[in-house]
Amino acid sequence: MFQVAIDGPGGAGKSTISKAAAKELGFVYIDTGAMYRAAALYCMRQGIDIKENPELAEQAVETVAVDIAYREDGQHIFLNGEDVSEAIRMPEVSMGASQVSAIPAVRVKMVELQRNLASAKPVIMDGRDIGTHVLPDAQVKIFLTASAEVRAKRRFDELTAKGQAVNYEDVLAEMIERDRNDSTRAVSPLRQAEDSILLDTGDMDFEGALSAVLAIIRKKMNQEGEL
Ligand code: C5P
Repeated sequence: MFQVAIDGPGGAGKSTISKAAAKELGFVYIDTGAMYRAAALYCMRQGIDIKENPELAEQAVETVAVDIAYREDGQHIFLNGEDVSEAIRMPEVSMGASQVSAIPAVRVKMVELQRNLASAKPVIMDGRDIGTHVLPDAQVKIFLTASAEVRAKRRFDELTAKGQAVNYEDVLAEMIERDRNDSTRAVSPLRQAEDSILLDTGDMDFEGALSAVLAIIRKKMNQEGEL
């Protein structure tokens, strides 16, 4: 099955670009960050402080059923049958996701789910460890990045557009802290896979970044006789 792995730090444009590219190519878009966000939301609802009590968080995530479904409007994620696709986008869930994703047993559970989803259909999967760990044999690996300031500005604009009252300095500080958590954790830290293509989207608008990603994927599909 043709697999595209897109990794990189938060706010680099992975999800919007991956979603649009998947639509264009008729692939399934798998958002792995949503799975860690759902795990974090579950712990938060149980009143667990993930950073202080990682073993409690681990137990909680072990018992909850996390399911994924693909509909017209994309991926939906469920916690014990409840659709939490909207709830996981709350800004406070982002930091929780970064904390819960450092717990090895949580990663094992989510990676199993991710590999199952990628075995059935051609996919574009985005995350932090897709090219390095989840899909090491993916035909295309792209590492999308941009400076922390550019990424924070994009996240700030996104949140403001949704009517959330945030300030840029806070968004930037959180972005930097999440980058640090994600790249320094012991298990599957965020890093560029050796066989991936680096794409800095700092100077690109959405259309430019999307065309660059599509060009990389189509070239490979051509070489593999998939187009
Ligand atoms: O991509 P998104 O910002 O939704 O991811 C939320 C958090 O989940 C990230 O900060 C990261 O800690 C974690 N994550 C991960 N591995 C992935 C995807 C996300 O550790 N494959």
